[in-house]
Amino acid sequence: RAKAEGKDTFRYFEASMGAETRDRRAMEHDLRQAVARGEFRLVYQPQKEISSGKMIGFEALIRWHHPERGNIPPSVFIPVAEDSGAIAQIGEWVLATACEEAARWKNPLTIAVNVSAVQLHNPNFSCKVHEILLRTGLAPGRLELEVTETALIKDMPRALATLRQVKALGVRVAMDDFGTGYSSLSNLRAFPFDKIKIDGSFIKSVDTNGQVAAIVRAVLGLGRGLGLPVLAEGVETLDELRFLDAEDCEIGQGYYLGRPGPIETFSELTGVLALAANDRVGSRGGSI
Ligand code: C2E
Ligand code: MG
Ligand code: MG
Ligand code: MG
Repeated sequence: RAKAEGKDTFRYFEASMGAETRDRRAMEHDLRQAVARGEFRLVYQPQKEISSGKMIGFEALIRWHHPERGNIPPSVFIPVAEDSGAIAQIGEWVLATACEEAARWKNPLTIAVNVSAVQLHNPNFSCKVHEILLRTGLAPGRLELEVTETALIKDMPRALATLRQVKALGVRVAMDDFGTGYSSLSNLRAFPFDKIKIDGSFIKSVDTNGQVAAIVRAVLGLGRGLGLPVLAEGVETLDELRFLDAEDCEIGQGYYLGRPGPIETFSELTGVLALAANDRVGSRGGSI
């Protein structure tokens, strides 16, 4: 059947695949040079204790300014970097840069860094972390690595070994995007996590949707039972924050509590009093 009618279909398919593949190849190529060319930078988003509004740490988030294409979000380029292997070099740059900057902060707050599956499955990862801590002088207890469940499943014994090694250095580990991955509950038991980050998709409308509220309450109960603090991601409104406060959720992160911004905009860290836009909007009092 396919021979006669399929020929044009195939050619079209091939052409469109070709364009997509070329795009991807181009991005892979550009990603390999982006670190050396200084095209990446980090922005930082506050993490606050909900009951007091006190700032307790920051998550480092990577930004890529491509010379021709402009800003490309991490949700687009991180998966490409993971597939091509470029993530090893990029991830190391992120870790080193975040630790270097955090070591200079005025306040010894926590720095949370996202770690991808490829990094986690590299047997040398914990050595790299150790080396960066020694070089930058950052206290290991101030570093928190954020790991998603999806990053664990490729080779669970390997991932477990890596997490145990970094924990032995005194570094903490948070489960990122909780609720969106696979077999969350067994992973919580099998891996030595210090914190649960509930994915932002569960915080959106937590104050108005009974089902969502039930799920978030259950995760908070889980954290309490396991002795793990819970951080709510993606807190965008005062009502969401009030719900989380009433349910004794320990930590919040989201646009309402502070947008990600370059380090200079956080006077808490630089000691320089600057009225930064991302600090003014929606920022709750009480932060140090
Ligand atoms: P993530 O680790 O879960 O980071 C949280 C994401 O939610 C960030 O997006 C942040 O800007 C966004 N966000 C924060 N508050 C709010 C809010 O109130 N509402 C909404 N709608 N979004 C909010 P971003 O920076 O685009 O990063 C997306 C993802 O890319 C991250 O999710 C993480 O998985 C990955 N990523 C970012 N930086 C790095 C990195 O340095 N290394 C690796 N491996 N992955 C990274
Ligand atoms: Mg994260
Ligand atoms: Mg997350
Ligand atoms: Mg995410």
